[in-house]
Amino acid sequence: MKTKRHIVHLPVYQPGKPVEDVKRELGLAEVIKLASNENPYGSSPAAKQAIIAEIDNSSIYPDGASVELTAAMAQHLGVQPNQLIWGNGADEIILMLARAYLEPGDETVMADQTFSQYRHNAEVENAVLVEVPLVNGRQDLPAMLAAVTDKTKLVWVCSPNNPTGTIVTENELVGFMDALPSHVLCVLDEAYCHFVDDVEYPDGVKLLERYPNLILLRTFSKIYGLAALRIGYGIAHPDVIHSINLVREPFNTARVSQAAAKAALADQAFVEGCRAHNLEQRDYLQGEFTRLGLPFFPTQANFVLVDVGIPSREAFDRLLRRGFITRANWSKYPTYLRVSIGKAEDNRKFVTALEEVLKEAAVQR
Ligand SMILES: *Cc1c(COP(=O)(O)O)cnc(C)c1O
Repeated sequence: MKTKRHIVHLPVYQPGKPVEDVKRELGLAEVIKLASNENPYGSSPAAKQAIIAEIDNSSIYPDGASVELTAAMAQHLGVQPNQLIWGNGADEIILMLARAYLEPGDETVMADQTFSQYRHNAEVENAVLVEVPLVNGRQDLPAMLAAVTDKTKLVWVCSPNNPTGTIVTENELVGFMDALPSHVLCVLDEAYCHFVDDVEYPDGVKLLERYPNLILLRTFSKIYGLAALRIGYGIAHPDVIHSINLVREPFNTARVSQAAAKAALADQAFVEGCRAHNLEQRDYLQGEFTRLGLPFFPTQANFVLVDVGIPSREAFDRLLRRGFITRANWSKYPTYLRVSIGKAEDNRKFVTALEEVLKEAAVQR
């Protein structure tokens, strides 16, 4: 057997450590996971009811086109149903975009550092990566535009950017899209859009009317708290949606996921509550990092990338032993941890543990 040559060197994705594994391995009674930007408030009770109600239909294939969910979302967003596509998480939309648009040797532009799946899926298609450094944790759209050539097919813009939490402003994006050649599709990943409170954040849906070469990615994994059900979506011009449908698997989203997403969408009060809690806890965590003298990128999402001033792997291990799972090993930020914004009580405990860890590390140095 011979694996395709251009994929053998690829890393296997390493997810945030599961709480149960850490409890077992370290014999800890309580473990707090601040690693995967999950919703600490769970999901809407309406979504849970919808899941239970749908279980009896488990012997029946899902609606491959997600007609009901599409209709509900189209109405919610004020777009046409043929402007929407659903995926097994937004991750699958990323995969399908790479599959539909990238041929071997095509170029694709993205930031360094940004969400790992753009790079991964481009590499699977044997495309040429063009990575443009962040400037102060922000995507440098003029430099990304300058990196576009006749061979460029896809440009990935993540706003808020994972892992830095920074946004691209409306002015920046409009300037970029106005200058982007029409043969290039811009993928604007808005997985964290619901957490943003910066008034300069663009309304992506409105921009779709102006730019047929723009697609927005969103998900039910983050503010809706349905990460386990794997349901995300893309919003774009019908021609772009058609191209993605050419590579979509027939039944790529599950029945329970479609039902839960539809119910969750109808419960915007839950979303508003999560958003308010996140903004309050964001201010708390950033205030504590300031008090501790730790640099961080001011975030517009539900996580903060903070400079702990020691190798991130060491900070990660020391925190893990105290029962806190974070995210480390960012190639461009070797002393930074990405910390998801949790519930008030968990954040307070985390700050206490972080202070202990930093004192302990200083003593042992
Ligand atoms: C979490 C995340 C996604 C995708 O999440 P799914 O669970 O696959 O829907 C996409 N983009 C970014 C930047 C993310 O952080």
